[in-house]
Amino acid sequence: MSKRIMVVDDSRLVRVQLSDVLEGTDYEIAAYCRSGEDAIAQYDEVKPDLVTMDIIMQGMDGLDAAEHILRDHPEAKIVIVSSLAYDDTFEKAKAIGAKGFVDKPFHREQLLKVFEQALT
Ligand SMILES: [Mg+2]
Repeated sequence: MSKRIMVVDDSRLVRVQLSDVLEGTDYEIAAYCRSGEDAIAQYDEVKPDLVTMDIIMQGMDGLDAAEHILRDHPEAKIVIVSSLAYDDTFEKAKAIGAKGFVDKPFHREQLLKVFEQALT
């Protein structure tokens, strides 16, 4: 059965790139959210197997949104997908319980590897 992904990113381009990369894989995109607030609001209903979370978005940033989701759903599997590839960002992501980090621009192999690790 395919794994359902919730994509949280304010960039339409990134949403399209993710859907291209996941084409033909065992992952299907179950929902797109354009903000952290939207992700928090939709999480319960969508119940995704995995969330990809951008950091820089209008309003709440993705790390705060991830922290909020994980507080309510400790079992949530969230992978940060961001160009903010700095040690302090990695550490914060880890500290709040994110399952992985993928740099933008992302590559198919790397993304799929991190997804697989996050889901095991
Ligand atoms: Mg963004």
